[in-house]
Amino acid sequence: MRPKRPQAADAGARTRDTLRARGLRLTEPRRIILDVVRATDAHPSAALVYRLVRRRLPGVSLATVYRNLRVLAAQGLLTERPDVAGMRFDGNTTAHDHFTCVVCGRIYDVPPRAGGGVRRALRSTTGFEVLDHRIEFYGRCARCRRGGGSSGNPSPTRRTYARQKPQRD
Ligand SMILES: [Zn+2]
Ligand SMILES: [Zn+2]
Repeated sequence: MRPKRPQAADAGARTRDTLRARGLRLTEPRRIILDVVRATDAHPSAALVYRLVRRRLPGVSLATVYRNLRVLAAQGLLTERPDVAGMRFDGNTTAHDHFTCVVCGRIYDVPPRAGGGVRRALRSTTGFEVLDHRIEFYGRCARCRRGGGSSGNPSPTRRTYARQKPQRD
């Protein structure tokens, strides 16, 4: 897996400090779990994280991976998001929204500015000042639209697209 976000040299030290402040240690499973989740933009499930972590730490159990994913999420070092198939984990902890493809199941990051119009509309109609927001978009991704033909019917075989990286510019 190719790293997507270049990590600052002191990212490990910052992570260690964050955990230490809560009386937690940066154990080897935690360090590898963070590496794995931060290296992908696929918003992996616990089961996928487990498979990737096991390559580097063969003796690790799914229970250990799952427990540590929850610990790291609770400390804000990664975020967890519910999905129809269970929890998904995101190494990108900056504010951003998501687009879920209903055909391939892939979750894509959406720039936060996509929600700006919604904030303004809410403010003008209700007077609410929005301090934060999470918007979930659902639809068909560009790749599935290209492969979808004219029927537009989701096909289970297209789930293989979930293994591919989205286009990034
Ligand atoms: Zn798709
Ligand atoms: Zn994300």
